[in-house]
Amino acid sequence: MPAQTIRLSFDRPTGNFWVDTGLVVLLRNFGEGEHAVEDVLNWLQSQLLRRTGNKGEYYDRQTGEIRPYHKVSWVKPTDLFIKVISPIPKIAIEGKEYFIRPPDPKFNLDLKPNKKPGNCDLCGEEALLADAAMWIYPFVVDPAKFSNFYSGAKRGLRFCARCALGGVAGYLGWLWKAHRRDALHLFIFHSTLREMERLHREVLDPLRASGTESGSAPVMFAGSYESETTLGLLLALFKYARDSDTLPEAGRQFLTEILGAADRPPPPITLYVISGTPAQAFQTKALREFSKLQRLFRLYKRWIDLLVKLGVDNPSHQIGVVFSQFMARQGQRTESIWRDRIAAAILDFGDPTPFVEQFLFDVHARPLYRGTIEVLNTYIQEVFNMDDKFQSALAGFGHSLGREAHKQSEMGLLYALRNAKNPEAFYRVLNDAQFRLQVSIPEAVLRIEKGERIAGVPWGRVKTLLSIYAMNAYLWKGDTKTEAIPSTQEN
Ligand SMILES: [Zn+2]
Repeated sequence: MPAQTIRLSFDRPTGNFWVDTGLVVLLRNFGEGEHAVEDVLNWLQSQLLRRTGNKGEYYDRQTGEIRPYHKVSWVKPTDLFIKVISPIPKIAIEGKEYFIRPPDPKFNLDLKPNKKPGNCDLCGEEALLADAAMWIYPFVVDPAKFSNFYSGAKRGLRFCARCALGGVAGYLGWLWKAHRRDALHLFIFHSTLREMERLHREVLDPLRASGTESGSAPVMFAGSYESETTLGLLLALFKYARDSDTLPEAGRQFLTEILGAADRPPPPITLYVISGTPAQAFQTKALREFSKLQRLFRLYKRWIDLLVKLGVDNPSHQIGVVFSQFMARQGQRTESIWRDRIAAAILDFGDPTPFVEQFLFDVHARPLYRGTIEVLNTYIQEVFNMDDKFQSALAGFGHSLGREAHKQSEMGLLYALRNAKNPEAFYRVLNDAQFRLQVSIPEAVLRIEKGERIAGVPWGRVKTLLSIYAMNAYLWKGDTKTEAIPSTQEN
């Protein structure tokens, strides 16, 4: 029987982010054309296993000696998915148990062409099919993303050899980031294999962290939650696209090009993020798709321009600092749920201000880092089309409110403002502030319109922004280390 082969080609993507990532890995190593399944499988085994540096002992039955062997294990992140190693019989020698040969972990891919041909559940092509073991292919069973497979999953999935090997090769291509027991798996997907190959070769390879236990993804920051780490990855990529010496110039330009491309149609790159808990079988907790990377990159560039105008030396770094700050020590650990909520809002172009407000009032009474208010203001203008004149008036008013409240030790007023649940309560607090602090309320803030809007903005958002501006100014005045942590309120 002739050796079973697979045909690799840049022109045959499957459209599945995970298998296509693996096909890029295979294309980079083997090139286009026909390749023996055996060769590909052997190469994958050699790449996915590594010596741990530890030695074990086994009993050599031929010589009757106890001999050392190098322990091997799956490389990360493969070991988060694959725990199984082939069982080797043991023998007891003088009360101690020894393997009768060195353990030799292997994939048990049943790719032998002894099955009937059929259509591959992934690429749809007619071929000899292999059953997919769930522990090797953890990402195909998400019901929302793979509904067509899910119905098929009852009878078990069947893949052609190309997709099966591509799926395994995916382990070598995707980025991951670990935090304590959990890990996030990040796929930067391009719909054409050639472009994705270039992305891996010119951009991701130079940026990929290797040999670390905490992941291969380059990030500005990372934590326990998926949105914060996803934003941490995107900010790192944006930084490398904009001003990087780390990337070769061609790679930097390519990254800028795909991030700067038009949004639609179709978006050239998509980020897929999978979180889950490693166990005997990987449990997928969430699979999320981010396709608005171009819009985020435009926003990022506006932030950079703004910080440059403010005279910030290293603006990309400062943007990382601005988002990093929303965490706090709680007992023995650092809690970053606020950073995650803010990141989640930004990744979806939603409203992050309630979480900033909550952080400032309830979690960490410290002035916001330099640039935070400006970054937030730009975001609100860009995403909610807030009028910049109104925003300046509101910011100025918030600043006076906070400064006067500090002078007269009226922090309670700021909490009353934060707690206002309707426009009536909001105006009551403002009247009170006007009377007690001698501050005048800008005209525009007093005009409430249809639908409880103020200058076209829902009153609640106006209240939240005002609370943030005021509390930040209050804390700035109360901080003795203002030189070390300058607030933006003193421009
Ligand atoms: Zn296939």
